[in-house]
Amino acid sequence: MALNDKNKPVMVTGGSGYVASWLIKMLLEADFTVHITVRDKQNKGKIEHLLDIAQQSPGTLKVFSADLLNPGSFDDAINGCAVVFHTASPFVISGIKDPQKELVEPALQGTVNLLSAANNCETVQRVVLTSSVAAVMGDNAEINQAPDGCFNEQCWNESSNLEHQPYYYSKALAEKKAWEMVKLQDRWDLVVMNPGFVMGPSLTKRNDSASISTMVSMADGTYKSGLPCLFNGMVDVRDVAQAHFTAGFKEDASGRHILVSESVTLLVMAKMLKAHFDSVNGRSYAFPTREVPKWLLWAIAPFVGQTRKFVKLNFNIKIQYDNSRSRSELGLEYRPVETTVVEHLQQIIDDGLV
Ligand code: NAP
Repeated sequence: MALNDKNKPVMVTGGSGYVASWLIKMLLEADFTVHITVRDKQNKGKIEHLLDIAQQSPGTLKVFSADLLNPGSFDDAINGCAVVFHTASPFVISGIKDPQKELVEPALQGTVNLLSAANNCETVQRVVLTSSVAAVMGDNAEINQAPDGCFNEQCWNESSNLEHQPYYYSKALAEKKAWEMVKLQDRWDLVVMNPGFVMGPSLTKRNDSASISTMVSMADGTYKSGLPCLFNGMVDVRDVAQAHFTAGFKEDASGRHILVSESVTLLVMAKMLKAHFDSVNGRSYAFPTREVPKWLLWAIAPFVGQTRKFVKLNFNIKIQYDNSRSRSELGLEYRPVETTVVEHLQQIIDDGLV
C-alpha cells in the first residue's frame, strides 16, 4: 500500500505545538485525514488555529487526548494510520528544576509508548520522529572532532547528561531508543528529522516553545546589555514541516536528516532584525547591539543559572552542519535565515507578543 494513500489517516503527536501546527496545515491542505494528539483536547485555546485551518482545507482533523507518560495513551489515535509523525516532546531549555521528570521521562517514555502503539497497530508502515541536532552533538566545542569540521548524520551526542545539557540528553536518549525499537520488528520503518534551532512565524500566539520565547527576548530588551557569542544552526519552521511531510510519504526515505539552513550567532540575527525593523517600523525595539565577553559570562555564570562548563564549551565557538542529505534525499530548499527571523518577528509583533 502506498504511503500517501489518502484513504488512510495519518497521525501527528503534540499537535498543538509550534512545529506540528505547520505540518498539520500542510497535511490538511493536501487532503489527508489527520489524527492529532494533544494532552487535553478540551483545551480549545491550544487548537483553535488548527480547527480554523481544517475548516478552510479539504482534509479532515480529528483530535485525541494523549499524554507521553501514559502507556496506551496513543492507541486510539493511531488506529488505522499508515504514517505517524511523532513531534511531541518537551522543548524547554531554561528554568528546569528536575530534568529527569521534566525532560527525560516524557521524551524517552513518550517514544517508547508511541512506538509500542505502532507495534500494536497493523496499519502503521512509517514513523517519522522529530529528533534534533541535540542528538547529533552536545556542545559546540565538539566541532573539533567532527568529520571535516562539520557535524553530519554520523555524529552522535555522547556528552550530555542530567546535569549538563539535559534537553540535549533527552533528545539523544529518545532517538537512540527509537533506532533500537525499529530493529525489533519489520512492519514499520523509521525516518528521523534532526532540526537545528527552529524559527519563523508561528501559527499560534503561544510563546511556550523556546523558539518563540527566544525571538520575543530579542526584541523586548532582555539582552539590552549584550548577547553571548553563541552560534546556532538555524532552520525555518516551514522548511522543517516540509521536510517532515516529504519524509512521511517518500517511499525510499530512510535514516537521519540534519535540518539546518545556516549557522549564525545571536548577534547576527539581532542585526538582521534591527536593519529591517528600524527602517520599516515607526516603533523602536530594544535589539541587542553587542556581545558580552566570554570571560565575563564565565565569571557570572553561576549567578545567572548557567554553568561555567556550558560557557567554556559553547560560547565563541563557531559550528557548521552538513545539510546535504536533507537537500538530496528530501529535496529541501532552505529559506535564508534573514527571511526566517524577519517574518518571525513580524508575526510576533502582529500578534501583540512584544
Ligand atoms: P512546542 O511548541 O513546545 O511543542 C511541543 C509539544 O510537545 C507540545 O505540543 C506539547 O503538548 C507536547 N508535549 C510536551 N509534553 C507532553 C506530554 N507529557 N504529553 C504529551 N504531549 C506533550 O515545541 P516545538 O518547538 O514545536 O517542538 C516540537 C518538537 O521539535 C520537539 O520534539 C522538539 O524537541 C523538536 N525540536 C524543536 C526545535 C526547536 O527549535 N523548536 C529544534 C529541534 C527539535 P501540549 O500542547 O499538551 O503542551
